[in-house]
Amino acid sequence: MFLNDYMNITELARILRITPQELRDYLPQMGFDIGQKAIKVDKPTAKKIISAWPAFSRKLARQEREKKQEEAVAAEMSGEKKVINIPQLVTVRELSELSGVSVKNILAELMKNGIFTSLNEKIDFDTAAVIGEDLGLDVHLDDALQGDLVNADSRIKDVISGQKENDLCSRAPIIVVMGHVDHGKTKLLDSIRTTNVVAGEAGGITQQIGAYQVTRHDRLLTFIDTPGHEAFTAMRNRGAKVADIAILVVAADDGVKPQTVEAYRIIEAAKVPFIVAINKIDKPEANIEKVKQELANQLNITPEDWGGKVVCVPVSAKDGTGIDDLLDVLLLTADLNEENLRANPNMDAIGTVVESNVDKSAGVVATILIQNGTLHVGDNLVCNNMCYGKARNLKNYKGELVDSAGPSMPIKIIGLKIAPEVGDIIEVGDGIKTKIRKMKASVLRSQITQSCVEESDNSEDSINLLIKSDTLGSGEAIESSFSKIDTHGVKIRIINRGLGNITEGDITKAEANNAQLIGFNVTISPQAQELARESKVQLKIYKIIYELINDLKAQIQELVKPEIKRVDLGRLKVLAIFRTEKKSQIIGGKVLEGRVEHNSFAEIKREGEIIDEGKIGAIKIGKEEVTTAGADAECGMSYEGRPIIKEGDILCIYQEEKIYKKVS
Ligand code: GDP
Repeated sequence: MFLNDYMNITELARILRITPQELRDYLPQMGFDIGQKAIKVDKPTAKKIISAWPAFSRKLARQEREKKQEEAVAAEMSGEKKVINIPQLVTVRELSELSGVSVKNILAELMKNGIFTSLNEKIDFDTAAVIGEDLGLDVHLDDALQGDLVNADSRIKDVISGQKENDLCSRAPIIVVMGHVDHGKTKLLDSIRTTNVVAGEAGGITQQIGAYQVTRHDRLLTFIDTPGHEAFTAMRNRGAKVADIAILVVAADDGVKPQTVEAYRIIEAAKVPFIVAINKIDKPEANIEKVKQELANQLNITPEDWGGKVVCVPVSAKDGTGIDDLLDVLLLTADLNEENLRANPNMDAIGTVVESNVDKSAGVVATILIQNGTLHVGDNLVCNNMCYGKARNLKNYKGELVDSAGPSMPIKIIGLKIAPEVGDIIEVGDGIKTKIRKMKASVLRSQITQSCVEESDNSEDSINLLIKSDTLGSGEAIESSFSKIDTHGVKIRIINRGLGNITEGDITKAEANNAQLIGFNVTISPQAQELARESKVQLKIYKIIYELINDLKAQIQELVKPEIKRVDLGRLKVLAIFRTEKKSQIIGGKVLEGRVEHNSFAEIKREGEIIDEGKIGAIKIGKEEVTTAGADAECGMSYEGRPIIKEGDILCIYQEEKIYKKVS
């Protein structure tokens, strides 16, 4: 296997949101025979670990709860106070989980203090500390503990499953487009947007919103407007499950390609219903049946018209053929999954962040997809129990100001104090405003300035990068694409990443770290440009990830060390030594087999053993200088190396061939 067939333990731990050491400790318990010293696991095993993780982490949480309850009982009996760390705001349920005190006892204690609340309502730290006194708890505030970073998907599911059946209405399906690069994901999203947006609205849609809606047969469909699985993976890594249906795009002239397989694996792991769009059918080389064959052979996807379950819709994103059919199939798929496409619009909103950036004039701008409830202007928003500020303005996908946004609506929120991350769950809730400033400072520091994340590396085979992007989503997509490059040992180090335009500070930082600066959808001030020129910091701004990746690949290619392959040329028997110098000899001999070449390498073999090696210089046959002497030729030649060759030695002649591995 090659290096990129492996995943680092640290990377895997990051995906699972645990430390590498925890991962190493858990692996044997999960039934994986991986040692404490392992630094990498092969990708198939990594995939197995990832899919086994949710069940295992639930088991761990259950064991932890049971342990806490036992400890609480023991502490109560011994009269000792139990120390717990809690965030600023905590629900009664979370407090119970953290302390091991039953929910019933916490609610009773709150009631004694005149606070009537329920299981999922939040109490602040001061209240928890007061009731903690009487519950035998020593409660401490832990600012770093931002609440329960529960799996985002299960958080949304919990909210929805807590609703009464009668309160639930159907909502528009949220659709994501995935597939191999250049198979037409962007074009398909454009085609759907321009042909089917609500009448008269085409063209008026702002570009930067991460999702849009179209209507078909008076029904709404929501599309996540970031093609490719990078953004989807970034969300999934945080446990967010936004998409209800995936479209796997496969070009009819190209068929199933590596990223098609990768995208399908992601869709499969996320258990998202999907359909296949066979695109570019307008092309003369298009071969729909061949694509179906490849889907069946390589991915085990049996198309519906072959008796299977997967609907394959032939389309042309270029001329619009089949787009309406595609939308009809999406609606049908939505109907078949109707029970998962329900929400209660009459409650506080909860949704997932699909884009987030910091705009110079507007401040934090985040696009979220509402998954339950309705968001209203002025609502206070919370992420991981931490107050992120008020939704000062709401803009729909067309860029129009609106008062509210219901389920499945993509909505741009302006006015938050803290930039959430892609995949974060945002919900309406209370926060402690006095704490905002402090938290804002620390969170913004970590999110926007992002102190050095990696040390720069000055070795020849590494590329240090400083990345500035317009949104967290695009920054993550870029990094995720980097991780997929087969670098053949060349190291890519992201020494710093941040949001917003390139400043003089970025140039200084890049220079200090011997790094190149990459901007994505950002601009650069004239002063910073000047400084970059003076300091000779390599700088480039991109608008298309694909171009960025291609440039980077070209750079990596230059640094890739070739693999040296030995090619045996022939054998020569030494018959005479004509001259011996300090570091060379002139010898004569007969080519026993193969050939001897000018500038080739020679191993000296004596009594069956290699005793040294050197290089062959000029070769002469008779008086004539030649570049090659073939089998049976008697020739003279210069040998460069330790002058130890004797008559009767055999020279094994070989060449070194450099094989350049392609960066892909
Ligand atoms: P992505 O990388 O999957 O987002 O692919 P793009 O949407 O950027 O498309 C890649 C190239 O294929 C572009 O040059 C498109 O114009 C072209 N393309 C996309 N869809 C079609 C199609 O249906 N027919 C033809 N002929 N070209 C297409």
